[in-house]
Amino acid sequence: MSGEAAATTTTQRLAPDRELLAAVLASGGEDLRKCMQCATCSAVCELTDASNPGPRKEMLWAQWGLRDRLMGDVDPWLCHQCGDCTLRCPRGARPGDVMAALRRECVIHYATPRAFGRWVNQPRSLVWIALGAAVMLAAAAVAWQASGVAAVELAMAGPRTVFPFWTWLPHWLLGTVFGLLLAFDVVVLVRGARRFWRDLNASAPSPQPSPPDAGRGGGVRGLGASWRAAFRRIVWHEDFGLCAGSHARRTSHLLVVYGMLALWLTSLWVVTARWNPLLEGLVYPLGLWNPWKLLANLAGLSVVLGATLMLVERGERPATAGATRYADGALLGFLLTIVLTGFASELLHFLRVEPLRYAVYAVHLVSVFAFLWVLPYSKLAHVVYRTLALVHAERIGRGQR
Ligand code: SF4
Ligand code: SF4
Repeated sequence: MSGEAAATTTTQRLAPDRELLAAVLASGGEDLRKCMQCATCSAVCELTDASNPGPRKEMLWAQWGLRDRLMGDVDPWLCHQCGDCTLRCPRGARPGDVMAALRRECVIHYATPRAFGRWVNQPRSLVWIALGAAVMLAAAAVAWQASGVAAVELAMAGPRTVFPFWTWLPHWLLGTVFGLLLAFDVVVLVRGARRFWRDLNASAPSPQPSPPDAGRGGGVRGLGASWRAAFRRIVWHEDFGLCAGSHARRTSHLLVVYGMLALWLTSLWVVTARWNPLLEGLVYPLGLWNPWKLLANLAGLSVVLGATLMLVERGERPATAGATRYADGALLGFLLTIVLTGFASELLHFLRVEPLRYAVYAVHLVSVFAFLWVLPYSKLAHVVYRTLALVHAERIGRGQR
């Protein structure tokens, strides 16, 4: 038998995932089909690499609806949405928006339940999310009142004294409700993260680590070194410094990220006050000059300033696709509503302005509830997925150059 006759031809049938294609088209990648694979976008992108020419290859895979390749693809998560590629694309195919749409689709793909994730990310769901949060919070308050159980903090004695902001929603009840929501977030995110990590490794298995002096820019790393390198990139937002269009966004992102972290910390401090052995003589509400109150107020200001700078920056950027604009705007809107109603509640509480302080406080609590409820399906889930992608990039030698 001749070699020619022995040769076998393998034909691979591509099965486009129409749901993925429709989702990307609907969620900001509506100009995807204009791409002619000229690779201008790959040439201008500071974050791509010659052997993995993104976002050109993502444009092709998305046109073909290759869900499996795209969901385990690290490159959309290395993109920082600077918009350089969208600006230079000769066909107006908006590759930066397609990368954003792929990240959104990835969060939905790994969410549980996926249908809820898709629903949450539609603009028309926003009003229902707010209504649902209000109804569930009200139901918790009514159920507690009907149960006749005394509020825990009212039973506090001795030097720890807590005056509930609103007797209908005492702190222990809010701590319980928000604690349950946080537990839900952790379960959904951990489940999604495990599946994402598995797919990242399946699409680009980690090679053997190079010697420790392999250095940055191409050297593969062990898992511990990859986590450390990724952590450093996140802490300083180093990648924003690489992208020509992202320098200004670095400051606003850092203000929001660290402001939010400080707000989480102060909330945790107050919620756990009853059991915290480091706290003595607690009286709540805290005085204006209490260090924790000061930290919370400074953190709130940091979030307001950072979010406002982001909104201004987005206004100046070339128009982004509707879905990308909505996802960014919804997160910033939630953050600003939470912090501004928090400040307003604080002021009205100190001035004892009745009954307005309760109305503002109710809006504040409903915003917090809604924020925690949709967190694993929102843009905030990027914290988990992007972190894993950065660790994986370091492992496979695609770390920062
Ligand atoms: S997205 Fe635009 S720049 Fe990139 S390959 Fe397609 S046509 Fe070229
Ligand atoms: S938006 Fe910026 S970082 Fe993202 S692919 Fe385009 S050029 Fe690269």
